[in-house]
Amino acid sequence: MEVSDLMDKIVSLCKRRGFIFPSAEIYGGFRSTYDYGPLGSLMLRNVRTAWWKEIVQKRRDVVPIDASILSSPRIWEASGHLANFTDPLVDCRNCKERWRADHIDGVCPNCGSSNLTEARAFNMMFKSFVGPVEDDASVAYLRPETAQGMFINYKLVQQSANLKPPFGIAQIGKSFRNEITPGNFVFRTREFEQMEMEFFVHPEEAEKWHVYWYNERYNWYLNLGVPETMLRLRHHGKEELSHYSAGTVDVEFLFPWGWGELEGIANRTDYDLNAHMQASGEDLSFFDQNTKERYIPYAIEPAAGVTRAMMAFLLAAYDEDVIAGEPRTLLRLHPRLAPYTVSVLPLSKKPELQKVANEIFSDLSESYSVGYDETQSIGRRYRRQDEIGTPFCVTVDFQTLEDGAVTIRDRDSTSQERVSISELSQYLAVKVRDW
Ligand code: ATP
Repeated sequence: MEVSDLMDKIVSLCKRRGFIFPSAEIYGGFRSTYDYGPLGSLMLRNVRTAWWKEIVQKRRDVVPIDASILSSPRIWEASGHLANFTDPLVDCRNCKERWRADHIDGVCPNCGSSNLTEARAFNMMFKSFVGPVEDDASVAYLRPETAQGMFINYKLVQQSANLKPPFGIAQIGKSFRNEITPGNFVFRTREFEQMEMEFFVHPEEAEKWHVYWYNERYNWYLNLGVPETMLRLRHHGKEELSHYSAGTVDVEFLFPWGWGELEGIANRTDYDLNAHMQASGEDLSFFDQNTKERYIPYAIEPAAGVTRAMMAFLLAAYDEDVIAGEPRTLLRLHPRLAPYTVSVLPLSKKPELQKVANEIFSDLSESYSVGYDETQSIGRRYRRQDEIGTPFCVTVDFQTLEDGAVTIRDRDSTSQERVSISELSQYLAVKVRDW
């Protein structure tokens, strides 16, 4: 499939089926902002849940927080963001477009002119004012990353949860960056969502944990169905490292336009705790009672994007095939990511079938996100479910009324199986577990 073809198809499917809409479309859209529709918000939630399960739920050494988005300038002054969170901005003198210098090769992508201004540092933080007076004393920033929430709460979390390194603090939430050139659909937007974790370790163990975490994170995407051929780890060169990093490895995905970052796993050293310690005067060191050693922990940070990951999962899942001579479009999404794990389709609108279908819906929706569709032919309904990635469809037919069994149709193979209603939930649990 042509590169632009795949992007066009994903963008169009996302809008047509209610995954992602251009925000404020009735007003002509608003500057690369997007709204997530019924299926998109279900899928976003599944991406978050899959991360949360792996990073928080299944681990005894990681705890979650939920920090505020509005934040004090003192945080960003100490963290270095006020001085360093900049992108190099250039203007095209010919057509007046503005670009991020490191994204173009000295030539304006709009008009082809190389008559560009010198690059100047553009700070990407969104600035606002808290309260009715717009003066220096009331400045606030929308956080450009969730990470600082973990650093400024480090001591409160460590003490209240009685933790000892190695341990992690994780959170999921929105971040805001005034990107010079947002684009490629939701790959780069000014408002987006992050899933980040700071894993605090003894400095001598930092390298070991860094390796551990970038491998874990690579495997997370792999286990959720991204093919190995579309995924790689890339080590940053020295010149590329952020101001806080002693080493960064990116998990990259093969986007239609080439390899791009999905997630960065950085060894942030003790940069942030040190910086906040100095700026706030609070002692953020850790005293190990066993070894009688006092030290400032290093932080290993896996930093991922919810919205960017969702886009990658959609791109990796998109497929077209031919079934019984009919072309179909499908999303081969992992059942943990698909908006609906299962959809219930009564063969007709006859009340006796609807009754059973409703009971199945109620029962399954205790554990799963369940779709329901009773309009048009069953063939068309299967196609609609394929297009939104529903891995299993349960069909209730007249036979069901006699034998208490339903037909389960598998999205990928289109094969069908007869399963007793009483065993349905268990059947699905095993299928999802072993996917
Ligand atoms: P880039 O180099 O692409 O600007 P970054 O290295 O600045 O990204 P990080 O600060 O490491 O990104 O952020 C961690 C993750 O947050 C990224 O890997 C990405 O998934 C997500 N992310 C960052 N910026 C954006 C954005 N503008 N839109 C959507 N997701 C983003």
